[in-house]
Amino acid sequence: MKSYDYEAVVYDNEVYCVECLPEGIDCNSEDVTPIFAGDEWDSAPSCSVCGTLHDYMSIIKEDDDPSYCEYCDNEICEGKGCKRGEYLFCSKDCADNYDAQW
Ligand SMILES: [Zn+2]
Ligand SMILES: [Zn+2]
Repeated sequence: MKSYDYEAVVYDNEVYCVECLPEGIDCNSEDVTPIFAGDEWDSAPSCSVCGTLHDYMSIIKEDDDPSYCEYCDNEICEGKGCKRGEYLFCSKDCADNYDAQW
């Protein structure tokens, strides 16, 4: 797929497959913005009519390396958690429990 190719468009703040556009609206209509393969999206949009997921464009992964608590394995939201030494814990309790193991 070339960066200027597209299979989906944005119309009226909704995402549509080209073929799912409302009657009378096509890719050349005003208010229709193609989603080009070279465009960058935070997440793959899906068609508001048929639900097809369009992930042909560049999807920017916000945080592809989530942190997990060293003790309970819970996922830790960015900026949250309790760092102790080189380990990260979801809470001070987990850090204490982890220490208590040794
Ligand atoms: Zn569709
Ligand atoms: Zn934890």
